[in-house]
Amino acid sequence: MEILYKSTRDSEKRVTASLAILQGLSEDGGLYLPTAVPSLDKSFAELSGMNYREIAYEVMKLFFTDFTEEELRYCIDKAYDSKFDTEEIAPIKKVDGTYYLELFHGSTIAFKDMALSILPYLMTTSARKNNITNEIVILTATSGDTGKAALAGFASVPGTRIVVFYPKGGVSFIQERQMITQKGDNTLVVGIRGNFDDAQSQVKAIFGDDEFKAELDKAGFQLSSANSINIGRLIPQVVYYVYSYATLLAKGEISDGEMINVTVPTGNFGNILAAFIAKKMGTPIDKLICASNENKVLYDFFKTGLYDKNRDFILTNSPSMDILISSNLERLIYLIAGEDSEVNKSLMEDLKNKGSYTITDSMKANLDSFVGGFATEDETVGEIARLYKEDGYVIDTHTAVASYVYNEYRKSTGDDKKTVIASTASPYKFINSVMKAVAPDEAGEEFALVDKLSSISGVKIPNAVEDIKNADILHNMVVDIDEMKNTVRDFLK
Ligand SMILES: *Cc1c(COP(=O)(O)O)cnc(C)c1O
Repeated sequence: MEILYKSTRDSEKRVTASLAILQGLSEDGGLYLPTAVPSLDKSFAELSGMNYREIAYEVMKLFFTDFTEEELRYCIDKAYDSKFDTEEIAPIKKVDGTYYLELFHGSTIAFKDMALSILPYLMTTSARKNNITNEIVILTATSGDTGKAALAGFASVPGTRIVVFYPKGGVSFIQERQMITQKGDNTLVVGIRGNFDDAQSQVKAIFGDDEFKAELDKAGFQLSSANSINIGRLIPQVVYYVYSYATLLAKGEISDGEMINVTVPTGNFGNILAAFIAKKMGTPIDKLICASNENKVLYDFFKTGLYDKNRDFILTNSPSMDILISSNLERLIYLIAGEDSEVNKSLMEDLKNKGSYTITDSMKANLDSFVGGFATEDETVGEIARLYKEDGYVIDTHTAVASYVYNEYRKSTGDDKKTVIASTASPYKFINSVMKAVAPDEAGEEFALVDKLSSISGVKIPNAVEDIKNADILHNMVVDIDEMKNTVRDFLK
């Protein structure tokens, strides 16, 4: 069955998968969604005998229907190879009866690698299929992890350039160091004076700037996005939820058809939306537990139906989730509004103009699979300490938010279905906060703490950290929000 993509803000619009990937965001400002979510066409009994690459193909072939089998398998094989430090790609660790799905074994040690390892291949294949001759310029706002994962994917890829904007002072030491040491003539990394939401909103505004688009086109460039608004990122994230279920079944941890819950540490709502899509495809997932840090706009939304970003932006120890405008929520809003682009559009206009919107009761009733929860910074550190003390397992701050929220959920509801927790980053990436939890008496500079954590936990220091220890700093530009467009212009000169 051919799947086309439609915009959440225009019900008439239809584009192929490859065009949706190339554009990133629809011209009307909406996000692309498949016209129908396809069902898995293999049983879990069959899928449970497959490895990650094979399951990736089984999922993606259903969505990227204008790719040939050869094209898609090429993209998958290039993406999920020895860049990952484990043959399993996404290993599952059973700790304290719960399954931690480790999504951080790629080259930049955060879950963004799961999709950003394949996006450059999907994008260059899409460009070829559509006879694009312009150079593709990837414009990305990052809360810390997308930036490096996108840079790693696109650096030195012919026919592409990449510009990453990150909030100066709003990312971890290791995250910043990873980005500003990035090599590759086609890369630019820029700190901005503002927070992630400022960066993301300005990037979206640049995408919507028709004059700028025409100017770039004349110069032989076109913009695309590596943020999770791109379906080329969203769909590859569906894979690991299908893979988790198949793997738990293969290991005899669950029986075929048994319902499981999934808990996801959430910021821009991309990862948990992928789990929701996996559920819609037929994966037996019951609850989707959405875990926030103190920027708990989603927790409040699930409780009340009011989405309200008018509040202080809090810098926390889980910076990749320091977000008040969760872009991918728009896709869910559209779906719970019965795929009504007019309803969605007017709510998104409210968000833009007033900073808030309220959904109707009938829309709220469609959210019954979602549960919201949040953890404070202290609860997050406490959860890392608890798992380390009780089980010797060290998790990062984002995963700890999810782990804490899940345990509170289980205690308060008695729901003890088997649960997969998305483990989204290596603890080494957030070394200061993690060491505060596992060895509070240790002090020192970050790389010394890295060595300490390795000797305490027995977990090898990832290459991603070794590589930046002595790397030169190649990017040191910091600009105001209103200078972002000119920064892009200068880079392309
Ligand atoms: C990006 C990120 C998240 C949030 O994921 P979303 O898809 O934006 O909700 C959580 N944890 C880590 C480590 C991340 O990098």
